[in-house]
Amino acid sequence: MSTVNSSLDKIRQEALQEVREAATIAALEQVRIKYLGKKGAITALMKEMGSLSPEERPAFGAVINQVKQDVETSIEECRTTVRRKEREESLRAEAVDITLPGYRRGVGTVHPLNRVCQDIIDTFTSMGFSVAEGPEVELDFYNFESLNFPPNHPARDMQDTFFISEDVVLRTHTSPVQIRVMERCKPPVKIIAPGKVYRCDADVTHTPMFHQIEGLLVDEKVTFSDLKGTLEFFIHRFFGPETGVRFRPSFFPFTEPSAEVDIQCVICGGKGCRVCKGTGWLEILGAGMVHPNVFRSVGYDPEEVTGFAFGMGIERITMLRYRIDDIRVLFENDLRFLRQF
Ligand SMILES: [Zn+2]
Repeated sequence: MSTVNSSLDKIRQEALQEVREAATIAALEQVRIKYLGKKGAITALMKEMGSLSPEERPAFGAVINQVKQDVETSIEECRTTVRRKEREESLRAEAVDITLPGYRRGVGTVHPLNRVCQDIIDTFTSMGFSVAEGPEVELDFYNFESLNFPPNHPARDMQDTFFISEDVVLRTHTSPVQIRVMERCKPPVKIIAPGKVYRCDADVTHTPMFHQIEGLLVDEKVTFSDLKGTLEFFIHRFFGPETGVRFRPSFFPFTEPSAEVDIQCVICGGKGCRVCKGTGWLEILGAGMVHPNVFRSVGYDPEEVTGFAFGMGIERITMLRYRIDDIRVLFENDLRFLRQF
């Protein structure tokens, strides 16, 4: 009996020692199988109980149960510690170094063309104009005929047109929007129409697609001085109150009289430079009093109403405002350029 006890005690010591040394959950499991598994050392001793005399059995049973319990408890305690250690280690391995520099994400900005267009819209809406839009694929009737360009009129050659079919074009200006609005509404009419227009042309100051903004005011007794006052207000607000403005006689089929409007050169202040070709002036828009034939084509009576119209290229205004000398940079979407705005 005492030899059995001493060998049990030895097994107990060994088992507890191995449990203490187990560094992982897997190693602990190996120790458990070695002593408490089906073929384990303690399990084997328990099987031997049958060979003992009935008097010896209770004492042996108590001792071996105690040993079994000690080893189980020890494994259980150790498992908790090992699990915590393993968790801490994996957290340490996955830790993020928050002192490392991160990836910088670019902040988007409004494209200079959109910004200028919005500024122009804001100026005119503050004067009571509302925004109107129309189709970019347009009937010849709206793009030309109703605007007093009769068929085969030489004025059609002023604009290099993209034809889709004989009667359908990509609009060459935003003026067709005037016609569409006047067809729908009775006077007074007070609109601005921003949008894309298309001409068969490409160099440092021209692109096949560009943006225009068109203005139209129709009412009783509208005069040329209303046009002058409106455009001077716009120019002074947009380019500064000191900016010089001049009107030059010009020709457009849909206005009479017609004018081209120049501002004092924003680069040299009027002294003369490369941008203004030494003149001190820059042309920025075309304007005039709406031609009676245009009113007739939409059913307005030119004896009852008068009106003015104006149109300008948004690219041109943008280039002057930001001193850009090549129109193409506005469409290349080079982030190094766009980030400057
Ligand atoms: Zn100049």
